[in-house]
Order: sequence, then C-alpha cells, then structure tokens
Amino acid sequence: MSVSEQSAVSELPHGEARTIALCNQKGGVGKTTSTINLGAALAECGQRVLLVDLDPQGALSAGLGVPPNDLTLTVYDLLGKSAPHIDEVLIKTTVDNMDLLPSNIDLSAAEIQLVNEVGREQSLRRVLDPVRERYDYILIDCQPSLSLLTVNALACADGVIIPMECEFFSLRGLALLTDTMEKVRERLNPRLELSGIVVTMFDARLLHARQVMARVGEVFGDRVYETVISRTVRFPDATIAGEPITTWAPKSAGAEQYRALAREVLAQSR
Ligand code: ADP
Ligand code: MG
Repeated sequence: MSVSEQSAVSELPHGEARTIALCNQKGGVGKTTSTINLGAALAECGQRVLLVDLDPQGALSAGLGVPPNDLTLTVYDLLGKSAPHIDEVLIKTTVDNMDLLPSNIDLSAAEIQLVNEVGREQSLRRVLDPVRERYDYILIDCQPSLSLLTVNALACADGVIIPMECEFFSLRGLALLTDTMEKVRERLNPRLELSGIVVTMFDARLLHARQVMARVGEVFGDRVYETVISRTVRFPDATIAGEPITTWAPKSAGAEQYRALAREVLAQSR
C-alpha cells in the first residue's frame, strides 16, 4: 500500500476545519494527553480529526504508537523549502476518522531555519491550508515554550485550549501566554480566541487541588471548561500502549471525561 493510500480520512470537500492549538509553555501539564484524547473523543462523535505534532519531542506521535525516530517524513519536511506533498506525511491512526501529522527531533531545526524566512509565522498555515476542507477539527499539540513554532500554531488557529495542571503555581506564566495570544491576534490572526482552560490531573482528595480549582474559577470564570480531567495512572499507561484512553480503557472515568470535554468543544463551534 502506498503512503497516499494509507492516508486521508476523506477527500470530499467539507467546509473549513476548526483549528485549535493546545498550548501552555509549561511542560507536563497534559497538552499531549489532551490532544490525543480530545481528538479521539471528537472522532468517536463522527468528526474528522487531524492531529498535528508540533513538538520536536514527538510525544504525540509516540503516544499514538508511531515511533518518532522511524519516520522519514515529518512536519519538519512540510515546513522546509522542497516540501513533499502533505499526503506523503499524513498517517492514519488506529482511531477511525483521525489522522496524524507526525514529528520527531528533526523539527528542532525548523526554528532556526524559519527565522530567516519571509512570512515565517505563517509557515504552518501554508502547510495546513490544502487539507482544511478534509477535516472538521485540526488539533495542534504545541511544544512547552512560546517559540516561533508555537507562534506558527497560534497564527493559524481559531481557538486555543490551555491545559492546566491542578497544582499551586499553575497560574504563573498564564499571563505571559495570554499576552502572546493578544499580540498574535493584533498582528497576525484576528480570529484567534481563547476556547478555554481545561484543568487536568485533578485529585479531589487533596485540599490544595480543590483550592487551586477555586482560584482558577475566580481568575478565569466561564473561560474554564466545566469538564475536569482527574489524575489517574491510566493516562501514562495508555500512552505506553500507544493508544488514546477512549479505546484503551473505553469505560474508564478518564475516557468519559475527555468525551465530556469533546461535547463542550462541539457545543462551542455551533
Ligand atoms: P505536556 O504535553 O503538557 O508536556 P503530557 O500530556 O505529556 O503533558 O503529560 C505529562 C505526563 O503526565 C505524561 O506522562 C502523561 O501520561 C501524564 N498525564 C497526563 N494527564 C494525566 C492525568 N490526567 N492523570 C495522570 N497523569 C497524566
Ligand atoms: Mg507534550
């Protein structure tokens, strides 16, 4: 089977995908886990989903069972000068309706190469434009920094979801992120909006977790999703299995929580 036969959820024109960047310059807050599982939950609802790995660590690719270091073509190649056709890079995931644009450590070179390009902030937009009509949702998993790659994600997104670990100090740094979003909105992408903050790794037994939740509600009000993702080892376990929790443990609380988040995200687009 050729690569192009493996790929592509659908060739039919289908309106423009809603593009959402999952962004937080702090590492380990649940960006990649949320990208995989929100994507899988949206796909379960019949939405056509594309996940974009925009972190050179390649954790999104690995978490979907695609070994990053075995890849010959990645997002890095698409951002380069003699880019292949996007269909040569797209990979069909084990989840129906869900495709992946994978990455690996090669992507770390893109940052340096893009710096001298004209329109360097719009490079990812140019990569994704040809496939926007094939999908209902494009979810971009950002790296843990406010780098040029992250700015590229913000420049082509309609919305930003900020996953936030339910810990003291989690609110630190969010002002810097919202300032960056504001600058991108003014200078590059007037459509950009905060879709919402999703609290992850919540442990209701801990007083401090409940206090952090209350504080997040005070600061961000209705910009916080009602759905809260609990802390459970099932997430790291599913990652090792290379599957979303929605297929690895479909009846688990974690799977249900990401389905609830998907319903909230769907309701926002209507
Ligand atoms: P990021 O992409 O923001 O760096 P990850 O999604 O990779 O964060 O999550 C960091 C680590 O925490 C991973 O090992 C992941 O499996 C684990 N993790 C993510 N969400 C949860 C959760 N709700 N409960 C427990 N562990 C989680
Ligand atoms: Mg990550």
